[in-house]
Amino acid sequence: MTVQHDVIVVGKGNAALCAALSAHEQGARVVLLEAASEDESGGNSRFAGGVMRFAYGSVDDLKRVTELTDEEIANSDFGTNTREEFLDDLYRLTSYRTDPDLSDLLVTRSLDTMAWLRSKGVRFVPNYGRQSGLVDGKRKFFGRMPIEVSGGGAGLVQYLDAAAKKAGIEILYETRATSLIYDGERVLGVRTRHKGKATEFHAKSVVLACGGFEANPEWRTRYLGPGWELAKVRGTRFNVGDGLKMALDIGAAPYGNWSGCHATGWDRYAPEFGDVNVGDQFQKHSYIFGLLINAEGKRFVDEGLDFHAFTYARYGGEVLKQPGQFAWQVFDSKVKHLLRSEYRIKFVTKVTAKTLEELAPQLEGVNPDAFLKTAREFNAAVRADVPFDHTIKDGRCTVGIEPPKSNWAQALDTPPFEAYATTCGITFTFGGLRIDRESGQVLDAHLNPIPGLYCAGEMVGGLFYFNYPSGTGLVSGAVFGRMAGRGAAAAAKS
Ligand SMILES: Cc1cc2nc3c(=O)[nH]c(=O)nc-3n(C[C@H](O)[C@H](O)[C@H](O)COP(=O)(O)OP(=O)(O)OC[C@H]3O[C@@H](n4cnc5c(N)ncnc54)[C@H](O)[C@@H]3O)c2cc1C
Repeated sequence: MTVQHDVIVVGKGNAALCAALSAHEQGARVVLLEAASEDESGGNSRFAGGVMRFAYGSVDDLKRVTELTDEEIANSDFGTNTREEFLDDLYRLTSYRTDPDLSDLLVTRSLDTMAWLRSKGVRFVPNYGRQSGLVDGKRKFFGRMPIEVSGGGAGLVQYLDAAAKKAGIEILYETRATSLIYDGERVLGVRTRHKGKATEFHAKSVVLACGGFEANPEWRTRYLGPGWELAKVRGTRFNVGDGLKMALDIGAAPYGNWSGCHATGWDRYAPEFGDVNVGDQFQKHSYIFGLLINAEGKRFVDEGLDFHAFTYARYGGEVLKQPGQFAWQVFDSKVKHLLRSEYRIKFVTKVTAKTLEELAPQLEGVNPDAFLKTAREFNAAVRADVPFDHTIKDGRCTVGIEPPKSNWAQALDTPPFEAYATTCGITFTFGGLRIDRESGQVLDAHLNPIPGLYCAGEMVGGLFYFNYPSGTGLVSGAVFGRMAGRGAAAAAKS
């Protein structure tokens, strides 16, 4: 059986839906092929918290994205995330390896793309809950990311799904793309399997937007390294590298940090894959206010190096390297009110105690005496003369211990104490394909465009290396999805 379209989009996450809507805007007949059932569809995008990082220089820029009342404007300090600040963060976090053209595109088009998403019906709201604090009666936003999607990633997928339905875009579920139809010169379509049946879909262009290889333990071990098969998957079980394999099989160029990924602290006993009812809440991002302790009772990272938005994507990998692949996050009651909502969910691996001596034996798998020694040394090393302020990098650091804690260091001295067991949760892989900067077209190993083939989302290589500023994945999916959809539609017309 064969079916003919202008543009085939593989996947149904944020990048795929943006590509489909963008191709449709250009007048193309589009079909979306999604491996999951409708119930399980939406990819990692559906699991996302929904924070989105884009360039803005003023409240007027924010008003292009969301409605803000006069009262909200008067009572908030939204800060800025200028083009320069956004680029600085990307360059700094990727150790200056991010592709200059791709990151420039991402940053420069981010605000306009947010406004485009809004025009498609996506509703954005200020992120009061997770990205702001009250300072002298005013809401101060930190981390340069004041806006999130209403309803999080699940909301985003619902809004875009509704827009796709309104546009009459066909979506086929349980249709797993298995290979590209390629005549040696151009891509002519996709081979799929639907409930055990093979079907061919023919089109003038194909956009691959079907994620990285984060849910494939064998590829994780192969590319990220030994031990990575032991990570939990934070999101969908369907991103197993199919799109990457299909493209590499016809000579597409691999690009970017193939041994790198985004991985965070995640409940030690969370299930193997994400649970849509829990979403991103197995994560534990408030470690900046406590200590991270491994099986040997030792600290192993600078918990307060920066706001969590700039360290969390790397620290999951640091937890994976520890003996037993786990770490306890330890807090005292001084910071309890600062812990994010994810610390108060029903499914949480948590212990409490009135003294550190009572807490130590409860930290499953940890050497209790070594933990107590670490805590005492840490307490003695805190610069108590520097005031604590969670809304800025306060410089309240430790002196004379390794690793140091550079900000928000406070002695563990106020009972009751709480500790949360975490392991490594992988979010998505950084390695991808090389694309053309004008159209999102996939390039071959000699950097020639492959006629008829485009890609977007996690499949785009070259943006992220070693680390990642939070909120960039969804914006990247939208910017490059929109670009690939437009490019694929234009090629289909020519
Ligand atoms: C728990 C969690 C929280 C996150 N929070 C945020 C956040 O707050 N902000 C942010 O910016 N980013 C966040 N991210 C990252 C972000 O979700 C991803 O970077 C982004 O959603 C990727 O979008 P995508 O469209 O490329 O892939 P996905 O959304 O994963 O979509 C890929 C789609 O392809 C389908 N597919 C796979 N293989 C095939 C095949 N062979 N045939 C057909 N279909 C196939 C999948 O089923 C899926 O629907 C988070 C991720 C997770 C897991």
